Amino acid sequence: MFFRKNKYIDLHMHSCYSDGTDTPKRLVQKAYKKGLKTIAITDHDCISGIEEGRNEAIEYDIDFIPGVEFSAKYKKTMHILGYFPNGDIENVNPLIDVLRKNREERNPKIIKKLCELGYPITMDDVRVQSSSGDNISRLHIARAIVDKGYAVSIREAFHRVLGEGKPAYFEKETLSPQQVICGIRHAGGVPVLAHPVLMDLSENALFNCVRELKGYGLMGIETYYSENKANDTKFLNTIATELDLIPTGGSDYHGRNKANIKMGSGKGNLKVPSKCADLIIGAEVYDAEKSIDYVTEIV
Ligand code: AMP
Ligand code: MN
Ligand code: MN
Ligand code: MN
Repeated sequence: MFFRKNKYIDLHMHSCYSDGTDTPKRLVQKAYKKGLKTIAITDHDCISGIEEGRNEAIEYDIDFIPGVEFSAKYKKTMHILGYFPNGDIENVNPLIDVLRKNREERNPKIIKKLCELGYPITMDDVRVQSSSGDNISRLHIARAIVDKGYAVSIREAFHRVLGEGKPAYFEKETLSPQQVICGIRHAGGVPVLAHPVLMDLSENALFNCVRELKGYGLMGIETYYSENKANDTKFLNTIATELDLIPTGGSDYHGRNKANIKMGSGKGNLKVPSKCADLIIGAEVYDAEKSIDYVTEIV
């Protein structure tokens, strides 16, 4: 069967290499069926799904932008997407290695605490829950807890022990917004503030925050997003225009892990114009050679 491409795109989705449920191949196949012109895979702190996605996208003649989503340390949720349309996304590995090291220090603490609390699991039980065997998050620990029969659902595992403020919760060391943005720029990527609406800031506070991030080298803002309410997209596009940032957009598709969010269309109304991808692809990225200082701060 032949599926016709429309003019829409989706630049924010997760594969099973982080907390999505679809393989990268499956993501591309779904995008093809939906007629999407361009997609980006943006796993949390992880680029293990990129090569598979890129190869499958060639088969299906879909434009593919390698991406990643980092969390940054801030008083509210701050996630920063990195897009690598032209450069080599592997250049972002030093940043990922820092985060992996942080996780490798945190996960044994969680597991030890769970054992003390009467939920005996091992690191091996957790590792088998992850497609890549690394990038282990609380999600994989929760799956192991469910697998062992200590909780009936992932939700319950978070509610009882793993969620913030619960007995087996340990704070995760993260990078500062400046380190994430500079790290992405240094690696030759385009840093974009993800889902600004989830930051839960007033319009004024959000504007000031984005302006500060722009000062660190932010190049785009995700103005089209599944959770945007009536006027959010319009306001965010105003910020993009005023601060000369690239407007981008995506669904944040997670497969069955967020079943109400559909690829390409979010909760039904999302439409990300293809010009967003054109702007990312055409963006002039930093000359990595000129910004050596940033990495010394990170690694
Ligand atoms: P971590 O990065 O190790 O703190 O784990 C974060 C991941 O755990 C997220 O990407 C979600 O997949 C999952 N997660 C966090 N909080 C919850 C929750 N309350 N219910 C279900 N899953 C959650
Ligand atoms: Mn997620
Ligand atoms: Mn996010
Ligand atoms: Mn996401």
